[in-house]
Amino acid sequence: MRHTTKQPRANRTITIDFQNEATYFQLLGNRKAFLECVLAFILSIGFQLAHKATCRGGGCLTRHSHYVRVRLGGVTIWRLQCTTCHAVFTVLPHFVLRYRSMRPEVARNALLATHGGLSLELCATICHLSPMALYRLICALGQHSLVTVLTRCGLPLPTYFLADEKHSHCLTDKVYLPTIVSGRVLWHLGYTEDASAVAFTESYREFQRAASQQEPSYRVKGVLIDGFDSTSKSMRTLLPGARLGHCLRHALLKLPKKLVAIASPVRQTLRTQFHTLLYRARQRKSLRVFALGQRLRHFADHVATTAGTANGERVRRWFQEKKAGWYAVLEDPQMPATSTLLDQAHNAMERKLFAMKGFHHPGGSQQAFLPGLAHLYNLIPYQRRALNAGKCGVEVEGGRVPTSDWMLNLQILTSGGYQCAPAPPNH
Ligand SMILES: [Zn+2]
Repeated sequence: MRHTTKQPRANRTITIDFQNEATYFQLLGNRKAFLECVLAFILSIGFQLAHKATCRGGGCLTRHSHYVRVRLGGVTIWRLQCTTCHAVFTVLPHFVLRYRSMRPEVARNALLATHGGLSLELCATICHLSPMALYRLICALGQHSLVTVLTRCGLPLPTYFLADEKHSHCLTDKVYLPTIVSGRVLWHLGYTEDASAVAFTESYREFQRAASQQEPSYRVKGVLIDGFDSTSKSMRTLLPGARLGHCLRHALLKLPKKLVAIASPVRQTLRTQFHTLLYRARQRKSLRVFALGQRLRHFADHVATTAGTANGERVRRWFQEKKAGWYAVLEDPQMPATSTLLDQAHNAMERKLFAMKGFHHPGGSQQAFLPGLAHLYNLIPYQRRALNAGKCGVEVEGGRVPTSDWMLNLQILTSGGYQCAPAPPNH
């Protein structure tokens, strides 16, 4: 056997929309028209081809070689080559999925049903697939990093974000999904089998590594967490310069649990007063940190007089423990104040994972499956309110998707042969 260290071949697939299959088959016989059609489509979606690092991409493309996909009933697939750097691009027509015999329209329905929370088994049944084929398709999507796909849509790496872990189960074992959310998009959805700071750090580091590859100067300014020890330790390890804040809404939800053995109207009144306190602190921009410290002290005294010294003391200790995280939120107007959007993302994942027996076995490919689900969360249009009707999360956050068809976008954005075109001037 010969031992050669072979460089892994870069995935330079490009998905091209040929509008309909008949057009594609006609173009196969016309070299010039085929190339023109490919170039026009690339231009229309605003991407560039990923040439080799040394190539400026100025060279011409030439039709290079072809192969026949037997499993797809003998569809001819062409490759193009850059005449300068010799990078080879595989042109996948829109009706072919990479390495899969499944048709995109079948995949579209199955993925949509999955995203909607239907179990893999039922999605497979209504789409006449095997559940395993669907599982593998989602895993294949998840091979592409969320950071790569989101930055291809022109989204800037998040300077502020929410981080928290979803607790889930793999059979009877507890597992955790470290998550990073900014607005309506998921930037990271990891998987760990224990809740230690080391495990979480390792997971969040995957995001950091991918982000630094995109932008070596990337720095995070602020992170909102729920105060869980392993999360805050992992964030301090990875992002020593970032502000760590605690969610103000969680603070509001926690307060009643600190007040024991008192009548419920008293508890309710105190909660309302605490709500007003936090709300006013947020309103008063310049004074808010100073004002908060003083007001928290007064509030703890107030609890002691209305609900007894034991409750007052408990609330005071709790404030002591949490206030630095609340200050961090109030000190910087750009810090997110509540983790509501992260909770929503977790709820969406929970609906899917609960219904997915395929996820719940130790030999599963969770590390690929979860990012696959996250791509669907980011790219399937789901907004119902008028302002963002028909938009996907990426668009709501100001990103740009290549076409108006989410399935085609998914195919294009997970094609390794594309890279972002530089932003046009005055943009
Ligand atoms: Zn080139």
